[in-house]
Amino acid sequence: MKCQNCAGTLTFMEDRNYFYCEYCGSFHFPEENAEGVVVLHEAVDDLECPVCVRPLALASIADQRVLHCTNCRGVYVPNTTFRQIVDALRGQSRGTGPVKPINPAEYERKVNCPACERRMETHPYYGPGAVVIDSCSACHMIWLDHGELDIVIDASHRK
Ligand SMILES: [Zn+2]
Ligand SMILES: [Zn+2]
Ligand SMILES: [Zn+2]
Repeated sequence: MKCQNCAGTLTFMEDRNYFYCEYCGSFHFPEENAEGVVVLHEAVDDLECPVCVRPLALASIADQRVLHCTNCRGVYVPNTTFRQIVDALRGQSRGTGPVKPINPAEYERKVNCPACERRMETHPYYGPGAVVIDSCSACHMIWLDHGELDIVIDASHRK
């Protein structure tokens, strides 16, 4: 990412979620998008999105590090981080509508784990939610399609 001020290359400040320009001393704060995802680094990882095969970007949700596809907006996240995000966002649920039933077509989808390339297991999210998530038991990682995190958070709020 380039500095908007002097076009120097920005340095990402680890653990601070912002960029610093060593050339002119300015700070750059990445914007949070509508889903609460802050993209920190374009395509830092050599892992690719299992849906659209583009490099995943480093991003943060609720101050937790995730990998994010800026194209399809999917999120690739460790199990433990996923639980922390759900816990952190639970109180901010905006969901008031009825829980939608799971679309059976969701079970037919094939998503391969970006890290080990094995097919991810598809199962309902354990909880009151009506969402199917994909997980890799070998890597302890979860793949969430765009919008699935919101559904999980809404659902956990209903308990
Ligand atoms: Zn600068
Ligand atoms: Zn994608
Ligand atoms: Zn895996």
